[in-house]
Amino acid sequence: MKITLDTSMCSGHARCAATAPQLFRLDDDGYAVPLDQEVPEELWDAARDGERACPERAITVE
Ligand code: SF4
Repeated sequence: MKITLDTSMCSGHARCAATAPQLFRLDDDGYAVPLDQEVPEELWDAARDGERACPERAITVE
């Protein structure tokens, strides 16, 4: 599984980091830190939860 976070679509709601802090981090301004990486199997559920939590659809899991 791969996860991508497009920061150009991020509005800083912080829902991703609240839902799955194992994967998502916020910068000092409250916007998500870019992600483009493979996700280990034990974090697949967290990745999907983060994707669903983002109202801007900035997070893609495939
Ligand atoms: S939930 Fe979406 S919009 Fe909010 S900080 Fe995370 S990536 Fe950005």
